[in-house]
Amino acid sequence: MHHDAKFQQTGCMQYNDLIDIGVNLTHARFNGDRDAVIERASAAGVAGMVLTGVNIAESESAIALANAWPNVMVATAGVHPHHADQWSNTAAKSLEALIEQPSTVAVGETGLDYNRDFSPRSDQRAAFVAQLEIAATTQSPVFLHQRDADADFLAILREHRAALPAVVLHCFTGDQALLEACLALDVHIGITGWVADERRGAELRRCVPRIPADRLMIETDAPFLLPRNLPDPPAKRRNEPAFLPHVLEAVAALHDESATRLAESTAATSRSFFRLTGKARSGG
Ligand SMILES: [Zn+2]
Repeated sequence: MHHDAKFQQTGCMQYNDLIDIGVNLTHARFNGDRDAVIERASAAGVAGMVLTGVNIAESESAIALANAWPNVMVATAGVHPHHADQWSNTAAKSLEALIEQPSTVAVGETGLDYNRDFSPRSDQRAAFVAQLEIAATTQSPVFLHQRDADADFLAILREHRAALPAVVLHCFTGDQALLEACLALDVHIGITGWVADERRGAELRRCVPRIPADRLMIETDAPFLLPRNLPDPPAKRRNEPAFLPHVLEAVAALHDESATRLAESTAATSRSFFRLTGKARSGG
């Protein structure tokens, strides 16, 4: 525990082998300085990044970016529930082709978001089921997004889980009941800087200690969800992968574990989950 006190004093330890499993690095907010963002991530010890695909075009961009950084980045390919109204037979065919790309490590983001309801719920469910079926056929890990749709989400996941090789619910923001249901379905959990939000993160902080180390991964979800434990938040409040150590240290404090040990376990869990042997493996 004295380690954690030290981290709080110094703000940030030096790491060299972190993996950020959720980075929206193709987002327009990085257009002006993407290379500098990548450099700062590397300097902060982020050795690997899983770039998030949110629709077919963005997945193609994420894969192209990952191809340009073969030892550092991999990508997911999928259609986010916000974009579920874009799902079609053509999208399905495109997704099947993108999964074959060597840089693609998972199907996603897919899932349900009844918080924003940017796409009709029936479209969200149909796109979610179709992508789980593609993941099952291709035996791809799945990268899931879920907000305020616990019952439908769990019902669909229960029906398909046995056919899927591995599943992560990224940016977990649910309650303990959802967490227990996910762990019972052998679902991995991704934790973001949400955990450092005093107000919104209270229930999440109760959940984190219950996540076994071999099911726990960390992510920034940059440019979103700037961690609120940053000593010097950037003026435009844009999150970036260089801030991953702040997520790690918040999770480590809750997990009653040193940040160094949690860095090792989350990296090992991420490599195993996304089958990163030969991909995003540098930094050791
Ligand atoms: Zn998401």
